[in-house]
Amino acid sequence: MRLARRVWFAVLVTAPIFTGPGHSFAQEQPVAGLKRIAIRAGRLIDGKSDRPVLNALIVIEGDKIVSVTSGGAPPAGAELIDLSKATVLPGFADTHTHVLLQGDITSEDYDAQLLKQSTPYRAILGARNARIALEHGFTTMRDLETEGAMYADVDVKAAIANGEVPGPRMQVATRALTPTGMYPLLGYSWELKVPTGVQYADGVEGVRKAVREQVMYGADWIKYYSDRRYHFEADGVLHSMVNYTDEEAKAIVEETHRLGKKVAAHCIGSDGIAAALRAGVDTVEHGDGLTDALMDEMAKKGVYWVPTIMVGAYVAPGRGGIWQRMADLERDNLPKAVKKGVKIALGTDAGGFDWKGLNQAKEFEYYVQYGMPPMQAIRTGTTVAAELLGWADKVGTIEPGKWADIVAVSGDPLKDITELQRVKFVMKAGAVFKNDLH
Ligand SMILES: [Zn+2]
Repeated sequence: MRLARRVWFAVLVTAPIFTGPGHSFAQEQPVAGLKRIAIRAGRLIDGKSDRPVLNALIVIEGDKIVSVTSGGAPPAGAELIDLSKATVLPGFADTHTHVLLQGDITSEDYDAQLLKQSTPYRAILGARNARIALEHGFTTMRDLETEGAMYADVDVKAAIANGEVPGPRMQVATRALTPTGMYPLLGYSWELKVPTGVQYADGVEGVRKAVREQVMYGADWIKYYSDRRYHFEADGVLHSMVNYTDEEAKAIVEETHRLGKKVAAHCIGSDGIAAALRAGVDTVEHGDGLTDALMDEMAKKGVYWVPTIMVGAYVAPGRGGIWQRMADLERDNLPKAVKKGVKIALGTDAGGFDWKGLNQAKEFEYYVQYGMPPMQAIRTGTTVAAELLGWADKVGTIEPGKWADIVAVSGDPLKDITELQRVKFVMKAGAVFKNDLH
């Protein structure tokens, strides 16, 4: 609340701001009490231009960007941050994470976390993971369910928003939904009461109530599991067992939209993806089993695909079975989806792998490796992700009016996309969190 009021004030008194080469800063009216910072960017990838802007000057007032110009002198009294030897980009956004999970290659890894770690302990690790993400340049995240840690994602989000711990801006999905018996923990004696990774909800009225409950406790998104039991059939297509009846899935989407929220569907097999699209979901998570027809439908409906390639590639060797073939499918599907104009937003499933072991920004590398142009890959984790989150007016680009969420790397990520795994400078809301470039 406090933050929101301050921003409104800044907007009121700084508009209008004109940008462009040779712009004179004399026209601007600095706001009393707001800190002014000017960043000199050697190469600026702003998230919307097709080519980098050389020798750009970004002026920040308080927590927002007020001007971006090619060249120009810093305004009087502004603190200058010299990134003239670096490439400056918008802060990254990961649209599929689990801050409350620490890797689950095997079901034993998963069960142990739910059975042996308390929710408070998991929330402490969640705060640590949020910090790791910010250090890697992720200033925004959509956390897609707590895996048995109830509503602790709402608390991690609140602690970050209140400035108690460092981390990205977050949207959270709380508990996720599946029908009874279709998600772990499973296989324990019926005499034992064991935790469940999601909220079981059944029937049209049951899922409506669960959606209302999750929104009441702070869910920004509703996630549900569209399918399970992935398998290849003779047609070469990855199939799956669909969890919910169409009536139930449609009720989830309808109730969520009625409450002004959006729906993310976990779907890996083609049957699960088709069912999710019939229900009207907003984002398809994983989507390994996408067929040409399903991609066409997604492009037509404007449904986002969040491929989470990193986690697939990471867990495949440990899980064995068909997981490698599923990872291969994503490699084949990504360039097809790019061609068909499917909206692809970067999502990693961090937490499905250990936050301490892998840098989320490796996801960018896979997209480029699989045939996506580097500039487009950067947009999946900036501009497109911001649109998916409904925050296109707040984050995702470096332009006047946006939050000052800014990162920098030493080299040129358009030449070597792995540069994004070596973020040297991180600013969130106008505050420098990390600067290894001075
Ligand atoms: Zn996930």
